[in-house]
Amino acid sequence: MSMNASDARRWMERFFAAFDREQQALTDLDRRSGDGDFGANLRSALNRARTALATADTATPGDVFDVVSTAFLNTGGTSGPLFGMWFRHLAKATRAETVGVAELARGFADATATVQRLGGAKPGDKTMVDAMVPAAEALTAASVGAPGDLREALTAAAAAARSGADATADLLARRGRASYVGEVARGVLDPGAVTVALLTEAACP
Ligand code: ADP
Ligand code: MG
Ligand code: MG
Repeated sequence: MSMNASDARRWMERFFAAFDREQQALTDLDRRSGDGDFGANLRSALNRARTALATADTATPGDVFDVVSTAFLNTGGTSGPLFGMWFRHLAKATRAETVGVAELARGFADATATVQRLGGAKPGDKTMVDAMVPAAEALTAASVGAPGDLREALTAAAAAARSGADATADLLARRGRASYVGEVARGVLDPGAVTVALLTEAACP
């Protein structure tokens, strides 16, 4: 199994739908650990992405991710530019008519390294990086040796992202607004990490 531009569009549509269901919960998480605008920030980015995709000419998965990237880069908040750069680097690695585990593994790895470089967060700092790193590692593990099945690889990446997101509840934030409130945010999932889990889960219906 490989991924073409239509598959990438369907992935993004499933992600938009998952976000529609979870927007309120994500807003509540940011209200308890930050300033409560996370859901609104994401809503405006995803609405722009949806509108732009409706008329965009997309020949490769990379073209689809570029449209989503631009929508995020034009969004406020800390998460907008970081997700924007994540998608930009995923796009760079996926500019072929069809892509497989190797391209997605490289895309996730480069994208995640960029977010870490820009935001300075390491795994364990209670940010989106806590879900991005395990997802990228799962894809990389699936890409070594004999080329693995893409669906299996994405399923493993989604499980890794979800456990990374779940683990943020116990962490004390060292980056972003949640770091200002210290122990108050203990027990609260990081909304950015939960969003990465939703995004990765949407890749494997
Ligand atoms: P803001 O705090 O500016 O209101 P958002 O609410 O849009 O930003 O996004 C908050 C999310 O951004 C957090 O849940 C976290 O995942 C992520 N985040 C914050 N700071 C960083 C950072 N330095 N590196 C990576 N991710 C970060
Ligand atoms: Mg916020
Ligand atoms: Mg804000």
